[in-house]
Amino acid sequence: MRTASGTMGRFTGRFLHHILSNRTIENPMADKLAWTGWIVSVQPRIRLTRSFDERAHTYMGYLLCIDGMIGDEERTFLVGIGKAAYQKHQFRAGDAASGMSEPVLNPAMESAEFYKTSKLKLESRGTGQSDSGPPWLAIAPELETYRERGHRRLSAKTYETKCQQCVWGCRMPVEIIVDHWKPNVKRFRFETFCYGPKSCALYKAGPKRTIPGRKGMTFVEEDWIDEQDTAERGPDE
Ligand code: SF4
Repeated sequence: MRTASGTMGRFTGRFLHHILSNRTIENPMADKLAWTGWIVSVQPRIRLTRSFDERAHTYMGYLLCIDGMIGDEERTFLVGIGKAAYQKHQFRAGDAASGMSEPVLNPAMESAEFYKTSKLKLESRGTGQSDSGPPWLAIAPELETYRERGHRRLSAKTYETKCQQCVWGCRMPVEIIVDHWKPNVKRFRFETFCYGPKSCALYKAGPKRTIPGRKGMTFVEEDWIDEQDTAERGPDE
């Protein structure tokens, strides 16, 4: 569970109460919780499936980290939204938003805590967020752009401490098929990645990742895989 940065915490004061006092939080749909708050960050919502040395990405949409109210709780929480919803609202850090979302059914397969969002609304557009990074707080690019850019592994600690607000950071749920003859036997974990400029001064790769295979074999994801994945980009792109 990630936390909001201190800089965004200041937004939870008067304006949040203004939104709440002018909005009746009800739940007409049994499983949905109403939420409202300030957007701390927007990142891509991408799932990774691994099978030894093979990997495949599923581009599910975007992840909003919100500092505000979910149901009757005041806290920081993660809401997954689809590509079309993001294209419509173009959310970015500093905006105020609201909606109604369901708790995620399988937390091992989702970076979000809540999803299936309806009544999504931009309450107010934030000001004063700089587009210059790192971390980059601009409007997140198209999912296709992430796919084309490719990623490098990112140290989990660096992600936690430096990259949670950056539109180029991503914490992916990972599904590992250990034995392709038994595809129903799976393991799950989370991995962090950077889609940002290779020259980013905050970047740290962290340890190489290992993927378990059948009969006790292990695949080590070497550095050349990241280099190959991002070879089309110059250092500052
Ligand atoms: S390392 Fe990557 S995710 Fe982190 S701030 Fe730099 S570009 Fe953003």
